[in-house]
Amino acid sequence: MSAKQEVRIGYAGLGLMGAPMVQRLLDCGYRPKVWNRTPARAEPLVAAGAEALPSPEALGQACDIVGLCLPTVKECHEVMAGQDLLAAMEPGSLLLNFSTIGPEQAKELDALCRQHGVKYVDAPVSGGPAGSAAGTLSIMVGCEEAVLAEALPVLNDLGAKIVRIGEVGAGQVAKLANNLIAMITYVGVQEGFELARRYEVDPKLVVEALSAATASCKTLEQRVPVEGLQPNSPPSQNWQPGFATDMMAKDLDLALETAKKVDQKMAGTELGRAMLRLAQENGLGGEDYSAYAKLMRPS
Ligand code: NDP
Repeated sequence: MSAKQEVRIGYAGLGLMGAPMVQRLLDCGYRPKVWNRTPARAEPLVAAGAEALPSPEALGQACDIVGLCLPTVKECHEVMAGQDLLAAMEPGSLLLNFSTIGPEQAKELDALCRQHGVKYVDAPVSGGPAGSAAGTLSIMVGCEEAVLAEALPVLNDLGAKIVRIGEVGAGQVAKLANNLIAMITYVGVQEGFELARRYEVDPKLVVEALSAATASCKTLEQRVPVEGLQPNSPPSQNWQPGFATDMMAKDLDLALETAKKVDQKMAGTELGRAMLRLAQENGLGGEDYSAYAKLMRPS
């Protein structure tokens, strides 16, 4: 048996990010155990070699390292405490939380882990489902250096860039900064390409020119709101997420709440949040966060 096959690793939350992260663990030679609230979502991973367990408690009993990727701190609490994941884990085990939940919330979960002798790694990620599958995530870590050293072998298999930002909570601050920057950038990309559309300027040529100009960025590479222009972009995939409007809205709310604590004004984030609210009010909460572009077109 290879060393990775012997690692007692588990994962809870097999959504858009979690499922491809588990597939990546399988591709790297691990034999992960998994739990998901909706069991059917585990089936493709079981077919690929993972073992599905019936509860977070069973996952905790079977694993020394558990990854989590759940929407908010509420679901993390439910799984970690409400469904006895932590109570079942051996003291000294590692909990890698890849969810975006906010810095104060990460500190709360760290305190909960400490009560059980479990080491908490605040490890929010960026790179989307494609980055999860390829093991090219950027992982923004908040934890003690000694804890990171223990987590690093697994994190290095999941990410291409692992940066320890600081103690627990610091990873979340970096992640909220990432998402508010991505959203504010998208507000610009959407407006720029709507302008091009109304002036009947070829968006393909605009992308080509801007790629070597000051507007060059990942949003320009991946989310130009023109159907068929970029094959893997949300508009070319019927606006499927990617990263859903509701998730981005959750993260901007976390960013606004976090900034309020330090008395910081966030005009750009407020604007981004307003665009997402418009999308939510028009039934686009489950579509990619870029989908509000549809509402900006003259009917
Ligand atoms: P999804 O909605 O695709 O998946 C959510 C997962 O959480 C599912 O496995 C779902 O289970 C589970 N879940 C939801 N509610 C509960 C509950 N009450 N109890 C137990 N499990 C629950 O979300 P994503 O994978 O997109 O996002 C997960 C986290 O990762 C979020 O914090 C998000 O901000 C972050 N993230 C997402 C990125 C993306 O591109 N999508 C990029 C970077 C970070 P079920 O199958 O039963 O619904």
